[in-house]
Amino acid sequence: MDIGKWIRSWPVYRQVTGPDALGRGKAAQSARSAGLTPRTASADSVAHSVCPFCAVGCAQKVYVRDGKVVQIEGNPDSPISRGRLCPKGSASKQLVTGPQRQTKVRYRAPYATEWQELDLDTAMDMVADRVLDARRRGWQERDGDGNRLRRTMGIASLGGATLDNEENYLIKKLFTAMGAVQIENQARI
Ligand code: SF4
Repeated sequence: MDIGKWIRSWPVYRQVTGPDALGRGKAAQSARSAGLTPRTASADSVAHSVCPFCAVGCAQKVYVRDGKVVQIEGNPDSPISRGRLCPKGSASKQLVTGPQRQTKVRYRAPYATEWQELDLDTAMDMVADRVLDARRRGWQERDGDGNRLRRTMGIASLGGATLDNEENYLIKKLFTAMGAVQIENQARI
């Protein structure tokens, strides 16, 4: 056995004899770790994104190879998160590539016990029809004293914590334009 090589394989030896005195870098790295290449190194493109899980809006770099997401990391250029992601944000690759992810519109009709698949155009038309119908049926032109109201009580909006400022701005604009007055977000509740 090469005793010198064996001793040099100890992290503590490298720590006390090398430049990594705190043992948090090269000194603690095994030969196997040193030989590994991160998935980010072999990506052929990187897209900038924002973590979809909560309203903090941490910035992400999405690494893609052969048209598939291979890794998602925090973006150090972000003034909000400075490269960090919490455990949920670090797991966002699962959200994109997980086998349980729904990629088609699913619809369960009133009183039905089974889900059915709808194409997106049909689903969007159904949503628009319901919104228009609820708005019309809940419309109040004037109150009992004749004061002008011009609002609908048939629609309310409750946003979730995954909505960021920009989305909430657009939702507020849209619902107010439709005459809704009950517009809230989970962050205020
Ligand atoms: S879930 Fe975590 S990583 Fe994602 S935006 Fe919120 S704090 Fe940031």
